[in-house]
Amino acid sequence: MISPIESFDPIAFRRFLHQYPERSHQERQSAAFIAQQLHQFGLSPRTDLGGYGIVVECDSEMPGETSLLRADFDALPILEQASHAHISCHEGIMHACGHDGHTASLMVVAKHLKEYPPLSGRVLLLFQPAEETGAGAAAMLQDPWLANQHIDNVYAYHNLPGYPLNAIVIKPDTFACASTGVTIELMGKTSHAAKPEDGIAPTLAMTELIKLLQNLPEQFPDEFTLTTVVRASLGETVNGEAAFGTAPGYAKVLATLRSENTHTLLAMKALVEQQIRVLCEKKGLHYEVSWQEWFNAVVNSPSHCQQVIMQAQSLGLPIESIDEPMRWSEDVAEFLAKWPGVLFCIGSGESHPQLHNPDYDFPDGLIATASQLFCALIEEKHGKGTSAAGG
Ligand SMILES: [Zn+2]
Ligand SMILES: [Zn+2]
Repeated sequence: MISPIESFDPIAFRRFLHQYPERSHQERQSAAFIAQQLHQFGLSPRTDLGGYGIVVECDSEMPGETSLLRADFDALPILEQASHAHISCHEGIMHACGHDGHTASLMVVAKHLKEYPPLSGRVLLLFQPAEETGAGAAAMLQDPWLANQHIDNVYAYHNLPGYPLNAIVIKPDTFACASTGVTIELMGKTSHAAKPEDGIAPTLAMTELIKLLQNLPEQFPDEFTLTTVVRASLGETVNGEAAFGTAPGYAKVLATLRSENTHTLLAMKALVEQQIRVLCEKKGLHYEVSWQEWFNAVVNSPSHCQQVIMQAQSLGLPIESIDEPMRWSEDVAEFLAKWPGVLFCIGSGESHPQLHNPDYDFPDGLIATASQLFCALIEEKHGKGTSAAGG
C-alpha cells in the first residue's frame, strides 16, 4: 500500500488549488484541502486562526530557535485566460499571483519535516489567507496563541516574473513598499444643466484633487513615493444612462499611494487629508475620505538575508541582489514587523506573464526550488533528524 506521504504529488496539489481558487476571506475549501493534506501526512494543524489561517508545528525534543515559514493561499477576482487542463473552475476567480504554488512549496516542506523532523528547536509552517487585501496576516496575529509565540526567524518567498527562472531576488532592509488605497467622495448639489450656477458641481474640485494626488510625490523628494489614480467618476446616471439635463453634484476618486517607508506613507496620508479639507472648504463641498487595504513596508533583517544567500548559493541558485525596493506590497510585513526574518523572491522567468495577468500560471518548477531552499534554511538552524517514516 502506498502511504499518503509517498503518494503526495506537489504539482497535482498545486494544480488542484489552481482549479478551485477562492477570493480573499472566502478560502474555506482551500483551507480544508490544505488541512486535509497535512492530516494525511500525520501532522496536526491548528485551523481557523484569524479566519482560515492554518499553522502546523514541528517540534523537537532539544531546545533551540523557533522558525516560522509562511505561504499564502488566496486568489484574485480575475477571469483566467488559459488553455491548460487546470484552468479555474470558479469563473472570474483565479490564482493569478501564484499563491497556489507558494502553498504547494510549503506543503513539500511539511512532508519533509514529517519524515525528517528538526533536531533542535521548533519549526512552524503557516498557511495564510487574505494576503491580497492586506488583512490576512494581521488577522492571524489577532490569535492569542500565535501572537504569543517567540519566533527567531521568519522566512517567506514570492515568485516573480521578469527575473531569470530560479534566481533568488533579495534585498536587506526595505524589500517591498508600504501602500494604501484611498477613496475620496466629493458631495455638492445637483442642478439643471441649463442652470449650473444654482448647484455646487464638484467638477473643478475633482480635477484639482487629481492633480494634487499626482503631484504628491514632489512633496517627498528624498524617498521613493508614487500615487496612481485608479478610478474617477463625476455626476449621476439614471438607470445607467447619462443624465444630460443634470449638472453633477457628486464625484468620486480612488487612488493608490505607495512609499518605501511606512512613516512616509503615514505622512502622505495626513497631507492628502489636509489638502482635501482645504480644497473642499474653498469650493463649498462636503467630502468623505476612507482608506483601504493598508500594507506596511516589508523590512528584511540583513542577517536573515545573508542566511538565504548562503543557502541559495550552496544549492547553486543564482542571486540577484537589488538596490531599489519592490514597488508592490506584501502583508508578510506584519509578521516581519513583529519578528525578524526575510521575504525574498524567486524568479519565474524573464518572459513569464506578469503577476495578476489573466494568462499567468505559477511555474511548477519553482516548487522544488523553493522547498529545497526552505529545507536548507531549516536544516542550518535546526539540524535534520533521521527518517521518521521508516525510510
Ligand atoms: Zn498578488
Ligand atoms: Zn502574491
